[in-house]
Amino acid sequence: MKNYFYLGKREPEYRQLLQQDCIRLEDKVIPLSQVVSAEQVHGSRIHICSQSDSGAGFGDKAKIAGVDGLITQVPEQYLMIRTADCAPILMMDKQHRAVAALHSGREGTRQNIVGKAIDMLRAHFGILPQDLSVWVGACICAEHYQVSPELYEQFVSSMQEQGLHPRLNDNHQLDIRSAVFQQLLSAGVAFRDIDQDMNCTHADRGYHSFRRDGSNRRQINLVGIEHE
Ligand SMILES: [Zn+2]
Repeated sequence: MKNYFYLGKREPEYRQLLQQDCIRLEDKVIPLSQVVSAEQVHGSRIHICSQSDSGAGFGDKAKIAGVDGLITQVPEQYLMIRTADCAPILMMDKQHRAVAALHSGREGTRQNIVGKAIDMLRAHFGILPQDLSVWVGACICAEHYQVSPELYEQFVSSMQEQGLHPRLNDNHQLDIRSAVFQQLLSAGVAFRDIDQDMNCTHADRGYHSFRRDGSNRRQINLVGIEHE
């Protein structure tokens, strides 16, 4: 078995996919019948997928409702997270026992969806944080993510309640990347096992950005376990 992951850029774009029956990537073609899509409601609930969830979010089959994270052990089942400024996070067990895909924007990060996924991987599959490799995709940087004083204060105090140290600034800018990185380390993932795409989706036109364009276009991010 091996892990497969893909962090998206502009193409292939999510809504265009819905007109097709597969995802065509440079190295691979994945039938949508093997993909699972989460509803993504800016929360921190995570669903453990079974074989019957394959194809959720495509054709007549509804997305997995009410969740922003997916975990699977099923080989050849690919978990999809859509992003356009929020951070996509893909987790892989080095022994290929399970993978996770998470959507961590302001609310997911504030509610520590990353820590919840790591807890679930341990509780359900005996996977320890040090067993994980983690990829964090492009997301909006702090400079481009100014929020209201109220939302800023709420975010900072939630981070502090988690024992973390959010980067403070006078402009009410949220640093999602730094927060997610701290959550991963705090949960016990090794520094060397975290890989980050440092690009800002707002600054780099190679990505879709909701804040920049108000667009409904989305990067797709995928993770799965597959046969060698
Ligand atoms: Zn930026």
